[in-house]
Amino acid sequence: MTPEQLSGFRWHVPERFNLGVSVCDHWREQDPDRIAIIEIDEDGRACDHSYRDLGRRAAQLSHALIAQGGVRVQGDAVGPRVGVLLKQSFEAATAHVAATRMGCVSLPLSTLFGPEALRHRLRDAGASALITDAASLDVVQAIIADLPDLRMILCKTLPRDAAARFPGLVVADYDAALAGQPDSFPAADTAPEDPAILIYTSGTTGNPKGALHGHQVLLGHLPGVEVSHNLLPQPGDRLWTPADWAWIGGLLDVLMPGLYHGVTVVACRFRKFTARAAFDLIRDHGIRNTFLPPTALKLMKLEAGAEGWNLDLRSVASGGEPLGTELLAWGQRVFGTTINEFYGQTECNMTVSSCSAIEPPAPGVMGRPAPGHHVAVIDRDGGDVLPVGVEGEIAVLAPDPVMFLGYWNDPAATAAKFIDGPQGRWLLTGDRGMRQPDGRLSFVGRDDDVISSAGYRIGPAEIEDCLLTHPAVHLAGVVGQPDPLRGHIVAAFVTLAHGYAPGADLAESIAHHVRDRLAAYEYPRAVHVIDEMPMTTTGKIIRADLRRRAETIARDGDPA
Ligand code: ATP
Ligand code: MG
Repeated sequence: MTPEQLSGFRWHVPERFNLGVSVCDHWREQDPDRIAIIEIDEDGRACDHSYRDLGRRAAQLSHALIAQGGVRVQGDAVGPRVGVLLKQSFEAATAHVAATRMGCVSLPLSTLFGPEALRHRLRDAGASALITDAASLDVVQAIIADLPDLRMILCKTLPRDAAARFPGLVVADYDAALAGQPDSFPAADTAPEDPAILIYTSGTTGNPKGALHGHQVLLGHLPGVEVSHNLLPQPGDRLWTPADWAWIGGLLDVLMPGLYHGVTVVACRFRKFTARAAFDLIRDHGIRNTFLPPTALKLMKLEAGAEGWNLDLRSVASGGEPLGTELLAWGQRVFGTTINEFYGQTECNMTVSSCSAIEPPAPGVMGRPAPGHHVAVIDRDGGDVLPVGVEGEIAVLAPDPVMFLGYWNDPAATAAKFIDGPQGRWLLTGDRGMRQPDGRLSFVGRDDDVISSAGYRIGPAEIEDCLLTHPAVHLAGVVGQPDPLRGHIVAAFVTLAHGYAPGADLAESIAHHVRDRLAAYEYPRAVHVIDEMPMTTTGKIIRADLRRRAETIARDGDPA
C-alpha cells in the first residue's frame, strides 16, 4: 500500500471470495516457485516451501479429509469444523488453506493447551476432523471420550501403536493419507460472509469465547497489517512472529496477510522462546518484519538489553496489550526502527494502528483508526460519539469486513456486543479509551479493570506504563484493592528485575516514582511484589486474578 492509496482507501470486497484461494491460488499460478513458508526446525535447519508445494499439499489434504470421512460436505450454512492443533509449520499453513479453500471452517488450536482448554474448544466447536502431530496425541487421547463429533485424526508422524488408542475413530498418518492424492482440488464457491474461521478469544476475563469469522476477515485485516508494517509489502520483506498461529495475532496479522501478499513467512518452533533465540533467528534468517507482542518485548528487554544485535528490520509491530513508553524507547534503540503499536480483539481485529513511516508515534497512544475502519469513543448508553479527551467505550462502526459474524452458539452474547446509536450500529469492544486532539486513540483499560477510588475513575494502563519505567520493575499489573475509606485504592502487583529484592524501601520508592510523575490520586498506595505474573497463554496479564489477591490482602493482610 502506498501513502496515496492509504489516504483514498476504499474497501473492495468481491461478491464471491474465498480466503484459502486468495492466499494460495494467485501465487501458485503466477509465480509457483516463490517461497511461501520457510520452516525452521528445533535445530535451526531451514526448509523452503513454495506456493506450488502449498497448493499441491492443500489439495491433497482436502482429498484425504474427504476420502477418510473426516469431513462431509453437506451444503450446510456452516461447513464442518477442522481442528488444526499444530505449532507454526508448513503443515499448519497447509491445513488452514485446505480447510477454508474447501468450504470447511478452520479451528486454530494451540499446542500449549492442556486437556481442559482443548476439550472446551473442540467440543464447543463440534469439530469432526483434527490435524495434529505425535506430540499432541496424549492430550487428545485424554479427552477423546468427551468429543462425540470427532470422526478422524490426521497425525504427522503417527506412532505405530497410536490408532489402537482411539477406538471408533479413523486415525491416519498425515503423509501416508496425502500420498497419491490428486494435486488439485476444486475450491468452494463462497460468499465473503460465509464462515471460514472459528477462533477463540484469550479468556482474559472469563471463559474463552468462539468468534466465527467470514472469508472476508482477511480483507478486513489487510489495511491495518499494511500500515503496522510501514506499508507492507516492500521488496525484500520477510515476516515472522513468535506469537502462536492459533491466535488471531499470529494467524491473521502475520501468516495469512504474508501469504496473500506473497511475502515469505518464517515458521519457527523454538524449544523455548528466549531473547537470544529470537535475535539470532531475526539476524540469521533475514527477517525484515516482525510482530512482537509486548510480553515478548519485555522478555527480550529483560534478558538481552539493547546492545550489538545488528538487526536489519524494516518494521516491528506490537499489540494485544498496552505497549508503553519504556518499551517504545527501548525498541527504537535495539531494532533501529520504531515499533508500531496496533489494537484489536479476536472479534474485531487490527482496527487501530500507528505507522512510523507516515508519522512519529505519540507515546502512550495506540494510533489512528486503520484505513477503512470507523473507530470511535462512544457513550455506552446512548451510542453517541464523545468529545475529545472524554473517556468512554472504544467502539467500531458496522458493517466492517474485519468484524466477526457472531459468537459461536451464543446469540445472546452476540446481541450484547452491539448497540445502535445515531450514527448506526456499533460493536462494543469492552475497552475504555479516549480520543486525542489529533484524532489518535489512547487506551485506558478494559471495562472491568477500571478502578473507582475516592470518586476518581482510574485506568490501569497509564499507571502500569509508569511503573515499568522504574528500574526495579519487570512486569506490573494494577488493580483496585478494597478500602474502607476510598472504596478502592490503587494496588500495584510487580515482579522485579534481576538484582532487586523486595522490601519496604523498594515499595516506597516504586510508589513515589508514580506519585512524582502522575496525578496524586493515581499512585499505588499498596505495592505487592510477586514471583510470577498471572498470564494467559497469549501473554496477557489476568487482572481478575490480581483483583482476587487484592481482596484477600484487604481482608487478611499481605502475607509477604
Ligand atoms: P477474553 O475476551 O476472552 O476475555 P481477550 O479480550 O484478552 O480475552 P483477545 O481478543 O485476544 O482476548 O484480546 C483483545 C483485547 O486485548 C482487547 O479487547 C484489549 O483489551 C487488549 N488489547 C489489544 N490491543 C491492545 C493495545 N494496543 N493496547 C492495550 N490493550 C490492547
Ligand atoms: Mg475480549
